[in-house]
Amino acid sequence: MESQKIYNKLLELVKKDNVKVNEVLKKHLYTKLGGKADFFITPTNFKEIQNVVKFSNEENIPFTLLGNGSNLIIKDGGIRGIVISLKNLDDISTDGNTIVAQSGARIIDTSRHALKERLSGLEFACGIPGTVGGALYMNAGAYGGEIKDVLDYAYVIDRQGNLVKRLASELELDYRTSNIEREKDIVIEATFSLKPGKYEEIKEVMDDLTYKRESKQPLEYPSCGSVFKRPPGYFAGKLIQDSQLQGKNIGGAEVSTKHAGFIVNKNNATTTDYISLIEHVQKTVKERFGVDLEREVRIIGED
Ligand SMILES: Cc1cc2nc3c(=O)[nH]c(=O)nc-3n(C[C@H](O)[C@H](O)[C@H](O)COP(=O)(O)OP(=O)(O)OC[C@H]3O[C@@H](n4cnc5c(N)ncnc54)[C@H](O)[C@@H]3O)c2cc1C
Repeated sequence: MESQKIYNKLLELVKKDNVKVNEVLKKHLYTKLGGKADFFITPTNFKEIQNVVKFSNEENIPFTLLGNGSNLIIKDGGIRGIVISLKNLDDISTDGNTIVAQSGARIIDTSRHALKERLSGLEFACGIPGTVGGALYMNAGAYGGEIKDVLDYAYVIDRQGNLVKRLASELELDYRTSNIEREKDIVIEATFSLKPGKYEEIKEVMDDLTYKRESKQPLEYPSCGSVFKRPPGYFAGKLIQDSQLQGKNIGGAEVSTKHAGFIVNKNNATTTDYISLIEHVQKTVKERFGVDLEREVRIIGED
């Protein structure tokens, strides 16, 4: 289908201001890297998403989901087809001891909402910069907590465009993974089961975790957080540190001197710099310690 026809159809399916052509993606990503999206849409309700999924299925146009872009590297050639940003679906509400958050709400805001409602369980998420959808997709976690501990169920749009309820137990949530990618589900809304708590106690935990994060992570530079998963029996950061890789740079990308598990975009890096440095780290650690570092961050798009 030719571009103008796709654009016209998207204008019928999504509000006019929420459809863009040739959108520069780096402004939507934490790494500040990446090319352009052919079409970039920001739906405001799940019906619009359903209609876009059905349209893209009928016309065989690929679509890619974007949360807060905090765990994604997009290649310099950008993304063909439609990028669906979920940021406009950001409502958070309370129902007894449960919190219902739409997929585009930030998990940090969901955690703060829980504090305001004196509900405990989401303290671990108070510094994770993703959306609720991205957090479910990755089973995000920190400091001993993870989404799996608190998720009750989610509503998703499946690959046929149907709205379906999935129990947490059906999502196969495991260390930084779920079956959302394999099922090609789009998370629309999540319900978290929490426990009543005391405001001061919840806040104290959140303040402590924020202090730990700010003192250990290079939050002053663009990055995608921890690049690698924790290999069984090791810590990725320690292996990288012991390989004397901190401060190693390729182009504008650098292995952080503050936290070896982070690669920062220190000086206008390209995606090629960033990916070359990731591969260099993997190769060096494998040679020194015989350990394979598996990427946590997703790399998508065209060269
Ligand atoms: C400074 C920093 C610190 C971080 N600290 C942590 C941490 O402590 N713990 C941790 O686990 N992670 C951490 N991360 C990584 C990241 O924040 C998480 O993985 C987060 O869950 C990603 O969410 P996102 O919305 O940014 O997803 P994105 O990066 O936008 O997308 C990630 C993947 O999820 C998919 N996706 C996004 N939304 C949906 C949806 N609604 N439905 C289906 N698929 C979807 C995307 O297609 C993509 O494949 C950190 C990142 C940074 C930059």
